[in-house]
Amino acid sequence: MAARPLVAFAVLALAACPAAAGPFTPEAYSGEAEKTAEASPAPADAASPTKTATNEATAPTGPVPLPERKPPVVPSAAETTPAPDKDAPAKELFASVSGPANMQARSIGFYSKGCLAGGKALPINGPDWQVMRLSRNRNWGHPELIAYLERLASDAQGLDGWPGLLVGDLSQPRGGPMITGHTSHQVGLDADIWLTPMPDRILTSTEREEISAVSMLKDPFTVDPDVWTPGHTKLLKRAASYPQVARIFVHPAIKKQLCEDAGADRAWLGKIRPWWGHFYHFHVRLSCPAGMEGCENQPKVSGNDDCGAPLNYWFDELKQAEINKSRMKEPAKPAPPRRGPSLDDLPDACTPVLMAGGNDGLPAPGEPSPMLKAMASKDAGPPAPSLSQSEVDVLTGKAPAPETPVPMPTRAPR
Ligand SMILES: [Zn+2]
Repeated sequence: MAARPLVAFAVLALAACPAAAGPFTPEAYSGEAEKTAEASPAPADAASPTKTATNEATAPTGPVPLPERKPPVVPSAAETTPAPDKDAPAKELFASVSGPANMQARSIGFYSKGCLAGGKALPINGPDWQVMRLSRNRNWGHPELIAYLERLASDAQGLDGWPGLLVGDLSQPRGGPMITGHTSHQVGLDADIWLTPMPDRILTSTEREEISAVSMLKDPFTVDPDVWTPGHTKLLKRAASYPQVARIFVHPAIKKQLCEDAGADRAWLGKIRPWWGHFYHFHVRLSCPAGMEGCENQPKVSGNDDCGAPLNYWFDELKQAEINKSRMKEPAKPAPPRRGPSLDDLPDACTPVLMAGGNDGLPAPGEPSPMLKAMASKDAGPPAPSLSQSEVDVLTGKAPAPETPVPMPTRAPR
């Protein structure tokens, strides 16, 4: 067997990576950085979801459009597992494994540099949630994350009247870096949840691939009042209310909306962190499970609501990003592909996780590999809104605001 059957697909894999999400800020190095790749409105009709969690698809799986390439040979745990190439991009290795490492559950390393042992799958259908983009096989997490999501879905529906959660990416079966979409989500403690309410029926597998989440933004700085509801505020507050939640990432405009909606009870707002993207989904990050050695937390949030200066900083950043975009003569070229960490760059304990047997659910011969399926998956939501050139001119003071009456030349100057 060739030492590195996946390497031929590196170029293809890298080409599929989305462009960088935004300018540098210190938090980019703290694991908060995340490039989003997620999903639009779901028609609400037909039957109610069943009341038990299940992992069975309820409808014929639509074919996922895939690049016309021969499927790569996927390393199989059933074979005598060859030593992984420690120099190969770790994202290719972890993206190629379709099942969890049957070991004691453990989140290893940091949110943006680690892996997951003993991963558990969130069932694709629950009484009050459904998993989207099944082709990505990213509904895996530490059991505490799975328990959190099930509890949140139940509480949000039962206590707040939210129709149910549409769940986006958690982690790969063994965590680790991903070939598309995220910088974090590596240790099984991060989850993306759509801001689109769950429709009152079970979505087909094809719908779960095709439906797009709905943007909450009217423009780059403002939540759309026709889309945002008090239910969204309740959902975010509920999601932040559990002690195991370390942070929740949302677009700065959504944080601003929450600051305005919160009323007197504001402590939970400290966990709500502004970040690029995150305007059609929010991202929940749990703290490391208690006493878990080798699992690295982020510093705790201050407990302030952070609705003042820290949020204003973000609006300056958003404005600057619009100005920068307008200065580019041509649309930005995709950033040069990042190779990402190799297995050697991850914690040592991630090698046995990758190598462990129990890699159930390997694709049938001729079926696309998990990696190719994930690469072919559609973004979960629309692109971020941006300003037109004339709007940027108003922003920078080069042009008057539209409300400003344009002075008309006097017909008969005196
Ligand atoms: Zn996320």
